[in-house]
Amino acid sequence: MNIYCPKCSWKPTSNSRWMCSPIGCGFVWNTFDTHGQCPNCFKQWRETQCLSCKQFSPHEDWYHEEEPVEKEQREETLIAG
Ligand SMILES: [Zn+2]
Ligand SMILES: [Zn+2]
Repeated sequence: MNIYCPKCSWKPTSNSRWMCSPIGCGFVWNTFDTHGQCPNCFKQWRETQCLSCKQFSPHEDWYHEEEPVEKEQREETLIAG
């Protein structure tokens, strides 16, 4: 599993930190250690801000499968009548 910003491809490191604020408790931790949940107040953050481009993206969008995805084969279907 690769973790990087879906907008700018910035990869967070183990030293990256997010703060549970301003509507949270202010706790600072690495949000990818807990899948976006504050370990102090247990608030589940659905969106994660990139520390590089400062844009918010859904937390799930940060996770990228390493395995190449097979392209869907388009079947041309002609429907007559
Ligand atoms: Zn970014
Ligand atoms: Zn919190």
